[in-house]
Amino acid sequence: MFAPPTFLSESFDFAALDREAAGIVALDAEGRIVWLNAAWQRFASANDDAWIARFGPGCRYVDAVEPRFRAPLEAAFERVRRTALPFEEDENGAAPMLFPAQHLRVLPVGSEGLLVELSEARTTLARATQDPASDALYRSPEGFVLQCSGCRRVHCAGEGWHWVEPWVSAPPPSTTHGLCAACAGYFVEQTRRARRQTRDDRGPR
Ligand SMILES: [Zn+2]
Repeated sequence: MFAPPTFLSESFDFAALDREAAGIVALDAEGRIVWLNAAWQRFASANDDAWIARFGPGCRYVDAVEPRFRAPLEAAFERVRRTALPFEEDENGAAPMLFPAQHLRVLPVGSEGLLVELSEARTTLARATQDPASDALYRSPEGFVLQCSGCRRVHCAGEGWHWVEPWVSAPPPSTTHGLCAACAGYFVEQTRRARRQTRDDRGPR
């Protein structure tokens, strides 16, 4: 695994993020890629050197995407840094083209870092949910669907978390809840932020 730079928050479990099926990179305050998970490296090695030269360590993520997506993405990054709230979008064009249908999520890390996560998205499962074979992909042997209570993605055995749009607002029967690695880190970090804020509000004693 790539060693996460020391300035990145301790709230996130980078070993767990490394195991995620989603492509995940961490960006520093200047928006440069400073960490990538194993899934991202697999995408990189499946492609030519030009790809890793655009989306590899040291590259500014925003500069690597298609020009028309740069300004909106930069604005979204800035908003996440300012508000410490996640940004997410379906079918985002501001992602490396070789990824499967994507759901983009950007989370704040530490004071100015960002985590960019690209999950596989299934936007047309509305019909597939009526297909027991497709539904079964997401069920444990006991028959449960595991949904992350943070991001609402559902777990697909052997494939990590998928953004299954029809299930975001209406989870299927027998859904249980857990937390994916990125959400777990985000919530730990939010709790820390809130504690710091309370301390700051109280002021020095
Ligand atoms: Zn989650």
